[in-house]
Amino acid sequence: MELEVLGAHQCESRDSKLMSLLIDGVMALDAGAITSSLTLSDQQRIKAILITHHHFDHIRDLATFGINTFWTGPTSVYGLASALEVISTHIIDGVVYPDFLRRPLPDKPTYRFCPVEPGKEVVIEGYRVLPVPVEHGVPAVGYWVISSSGKSIFYTGDTGGGCSSCWEVASPDLLIIEVCMSDSYESMAQQSGHMTPRLLKQELLDFKRLRGYLPPVVAVHMILAIEDEIRGEVAQVAEELGARITLAHEGMRISL
Ligand SMILES: [Zn+2]
Ligand SMILES: [Zn+2]
Repeated sequence: MELEVLGAHQCESRDSKLMSLLIDGVMALDAGAITSSLTLSDQQRIKAILITHHHFDHIRDLATFGINTFWTGPTSVYGLASALEVISTHIIDGVVYPDFLRRPLPDKPTYRFCPVEPGKEVVIEGYRVLPVPVEHGVPAVGYWVISSSGKSIFYTGDTGGGCSSCWEVASPDLLIIEVCMSDSYESMAQQSGHMTPRLLKQELLDFKRLRGYLPPVVAVHMILAIEDEIRGEVAQVAEELGARITLAHEGMRISL
């Protein structure tokens, strides 16, 4: 299983992109950076896109990817029914951007929407995928993705913590979890459904209590302006827990 971080941040700049992960070149988790990070031929290799929730930094490139793959689809887009509804009524609504669910042809559209149900495993392109609800203020799921070789990752998407229901069902080889803000912004983080290093520590302690081990951890969704602060605090958490925690960066590749 080869994981590539296409976008690791909540903020876009020349050197940072919005949330997007790519597995084995064929399956994207969130769509914040699937066009800005990949060549056209690499984009055309993507068979499925899994959306964690409907916030813009996770869905933005569904518009640009749709144009790029207009004649080569359909691409399957998975997500909660409510998230898919927001995408079709606010982004690819036929006003802001074309209705890719019916164009170029109703029987051969650009996208095929595939609603997922929390707790119900689906097989996507040969991977077993379990969507697990996470707390984020809007309907949201994390995904446990298991390859045919048995290796797996869990990606939380955006969450404010309280993920023990995830750790009860998932035992990944790699945990990709959001750490959006530094500890000095904890009250703002909690109001907006995001994590800080201190909250990350609680989650990892919960994980270890429930599963008896800690996998390598990759932090994502950092706010660029306070990333150095987050990095220092995450390093402290890693030391306290004896854990391997790294901050993701665009272009990061991990083999499992
Ligand atoms: Zn969000
Ligand atoms: Zn986000």
